[in-house]
Order: sequence, then structure tokens, then C-alpha cells
Amino acid sequence: MTTELERELRSFLPAGSVLEGAPASYLVDETESRGVRGRADAVVVPESAEEVAEVVSWCYEHGVAIVPRGGGTGFAAGAIPLDGGVVVSLERLTRVRAFEPLLWRIWVEAGLRTAELRRIVRESGLFFPPDPGAAEQSQIGGNIATNAGGPHAFKYGVTGTWVTGLEAVLAPGQIVSVGGPIRKDVSGFDLKSLLIGSEGALGIVTAAWLRLLPAPDASYPVAAFYSTAEDGCAAIESVLGNGLVVAALEYLDAATLAAAGPAFPSGVPSDARFLVLAEADGSLAAARELRTALLDVFGDKALGVHAPRENAEIEALWRWRDGVSIAVTAQRGGKVSEDIVVPLDRLAEAIEETLAIGARHGLSACSWGHAGDGNLHATFLVSPERADELKRAEQAAQDLFDLALSLGGSVSGEHGVGVVKRGRQGWSPEAAALMAAVKQAFDPRGLMNPGKKV
Ligand SMILES: Cc1cc2nc3c(=O)[nH]c(=O)nc-3n(C[C@H](O)[C@H](O)[C@H](O)COP(=O)(O)OP(=O)(O)OC[C@H]3O[C@@H](n4cnc5c(N)ncnc54)[C@H](O)[C@@H]3O)c2cc1C
Repeated sequence: MTTELERELRSFLPAGSVLEGAPASYLVDETESRGVRGRADAVVVPESAEEVAEVVSWCYEHGVAIVPRGGGTGFAAGAIPLDGGVVVSLERLTRVRAFEPLLWRIWVEAGLRTAELRRIVRESGLFFPPDPGAAEQSQIGGNIATNAGGPHAFKYGVTGTWVTGLEAVLAPGQIVSVGGPIRKDVSGFDLKSLLIGSEGALGIVTAAWLRLLPAPDASYPVAAFYSTAEDGCAAIESVLGNGLVVAALEYLDAATLAAAGPAFPSGVPSDARFLVLAEADGSLAAARELRTALLDVFGDKALGVHAPRENAEIEALWRWRDGVSIAVTAQRGGKVSEDIVVPLDRLAEAIEETLAIGARHGLSACSWGHAGDGNLHATFLVSPERADELKRAEQAAQDLFDLALSLGGSVSGEHGVGVVKRGRQGWSPEAAALMAAVKQAFDPRGLMNPGKKV
């Protein structure tokens, strides 16, 4: 049934911009399997920044909540409308506004999908390093709004590292640009960095200038299996201790390996309980040298090593790594998975404590993630039909946040706060007041993605 709000929006937006009856697929994200589902009064799919500005302007004038939506692959329920309002989906803002390969830069609209961006620049021999999973669905705007990471953030940094300029629609409905095709800018306060990672709670990103790099000539992954988490974590630390600048440094614990191991592209030793995956990249000679050094460092204690050199095998290994999250979900149909981050020297403790928290709440637990960044996807397995399990898993997640803070870490390394970690950031009162002041300055009526982030 057409709502009053849909009728109002149709009166000034082009035909087709307001979807009929807020389709259910726009009310969920990856937290659906933990029972989070929203309610919207309207879903709009604008085609330009100007149309986004018109929607924001109308909503701001009428006191209606605005919920920006990218690919809906988030794990924090950030794109879910909690209690009505207008979902603004960026899916039709997909233009490449400028691509200057010789200057290593590109200007794209926010709805361009991550994998598509990477493909476009790769055809010119360039490389956009941030590689969060679900790249075929997530959008560059969503990556910017969550400051997404991914395996290669270890060497290359998270999404924000590659953003030199942003165009955003800010309250009460203006298009504002900060930065641009410039690699440095200290002329004012860093508004660009405030918008990066702001989860749609400060404004809607409509376009971004991105920095690029020439693609490395070669990338060689090395996967090493260990019999204990201690041995695996020692290997991770020795990569750093030996000064090996690898592109990625990942891990899987025993339970994750049990879930994802059957699809591993080579044999998994039967007594393997931990996997370390690193990647050597650079010029052909540099990547080869680094690969040899990695094989040395992983050396004695590894039960086995898989170190492919052929492209097809390398792609198969990374495809497998991309599917780890799905393999874990498949165990029981659902999961409550967080993205806590701890100092690297506390990683082993965080891995062990994740299992202990699961056991205390009667839940199967596991973790995997971006070891080099101390970033764990600490996870509790649930059956979505079991309300009691979901409740215990949510309690377990709260313990996980306490753990992260007690180890000197943070509740979120890359997925953002959204709804699920609201109020758990552990800020000092002074820091919390500054965060609230920033929100107030950008969004005085509190209509930009209300109930999220702060
Ligand atoms: C299998 C899998 C693997 C993943 N692996 C990783 C990983 O390795 N690293 C990682 O960081 N994340 C990972 N993620 C999480 C997710 O993919 C990223 O957070 C991604 O960047 C979200 O982008 P999206 O377009 O789907 O955003 P959405 O989920 O649609 O939105 C996320 C947040 O950003 C806001 N938002 C979206 N677009 C805009 C915009 N244009 N302007 C303002 N706000 C906006 C939304 O309101 C919401 O708060 C993974 C997810 C899956 C399903």
C-alpha cells in the first residue's frame, strides 16, 4: 500500500525513484541471521547527488529520519531503518566521473560496487588496495562510511587511506565537497576524515576521489598450518619481528578451520588446528624473495604449507578465504560475529578468551581474521530459530566488547558500531562529549541515521 510519505516524495522525484511499499530486502543487512529487521516508511533510489539532496532537504524540513544504504553487507545493522523514515539507497549512483590512470586517481560515485571499481582500475594496470569481503555487493560509499578494511589493509591501510576527496549531502540538504584530486590538504579541520567511518550518521557520501597504485607485478600467498594457536600466533609475531612487510597476514582458529577446511584448495593436515595466511607482493624479484623469507619464518613448526605460484591456484586460495564467513554461518544457519581489535601482542589471549566466553554462554565459538591488524572476527554460532541461543549470543557479544576494552583494544576494527555496539565504545566522558558535539554540528535535528554510531 502506498504511504502518505511515498506520495509526498513522488511529487518531486522522477518516476521510479520511490520504490513501491518499502521492499523487505531494504530492511535487513548481514545481521538478519541474528534477528535484526527494520521498518521504513519509504525507500528511494535517487539517480544523482542533486536528487539525494532534494530527499534530505524534504526529510529535514519534515522531521523524517534518513537512513543511507549501500550494498547492505554490513555486520552492524547500520543500514537498517530502526523505526520508520526514508531509506536512501545509493545503488543508482554508479558513474565513474573521471579516471586518470596516468595520475593514479579516479573519481567515482558512491554506489559503484567495490569489485567493479577494482576491475576498472586493474584494466589499466592499477590497484585499489582495500578489499573487504562481499566485494561484488558492497559499494564504495558503504566502504567509506564504515572505513572498511580487509586482508590487504595490513600493508596498505583501510579505505580512508585511499580517499583524497569526498562529495556528501549534509543536513539540511546541501551538497558539500571536501578535498579533491589532491594528495595533501591541511588547510582546515579534517572534515573528510570525520565523514569517513561515520556510518551515515553525519551525512550521505555521494562521490569520492580515490588514490590508486600501480598493481604489484606479483602476489604470492603462503598458507601455513599449525597444531596449536600458540605456535600460529608465534609465527604471526615472527613475520613482524623479522621485518617482513607482507601485504596480508590472516588467521583461522581450529573451529573455523574445521568449518572452512573441507573447501581448502589443497590438503589440510589432519592435526592442523590453526592456519596463518600471508601474502608476499611487489616486483617479481621482491615478491619471490619475500615468499622465500616467509617459508623460512613459518619453517620448523608448521605442519604443512600451501604456497601456490600459479594465478589460478592463487585466485582459488583467496576465493576460499572470501568464503570463510559463509562456511562458518553454514554450520548452524546463523552467527553473531563481531570485529573486535586488540594490540597484536594480545591476539592469542583474545582468541582463547573468545572460546571461553562462548563456553560460559553454552555456545560454539570460533574466530578468524586480520591477524596482523589484531582484528578478530570473534563469532558465536546460533540457529536463527532458537531465540534462547540468540539471546545468549548477544550476551556473549557484550562480554566480547568488555574483553576488547580490557585488552587495550576497541569494540570495532572495521564493521562499525551501527546498532549492535551502540554505547559500548568505552569512551571517556570528555571523548563522548566531543563525539556528541560533532554529531550535533553536522546533524542538529538528529535525523541522519538516528540510533546509530553515537
Ligand atoms: C562475507 C563478508 C565479508 C566481509 N568482510 C569484510 C572485511 O574483510 N572488512 C570489512 O571492513 N568489512 C567486511 N565486511 C562488512 C561489509 O562488507 C563492509 O562493512 C562494507 O564496507 C559495507 O558496505 P555496504 O555498501 O554493503 O554498506 P551497507 O551495509 O549498506 O551500510 C553500512 C553502513 O554505511 C552506511 N552507508 C552506506 N552507504 C553510505 C553512503 N553512501 N553514505 C553514507 N553512509 C552510507 C549505512 O547507513 C550503514 O551505516 C564483510 C561482509 C561480508 C558479508
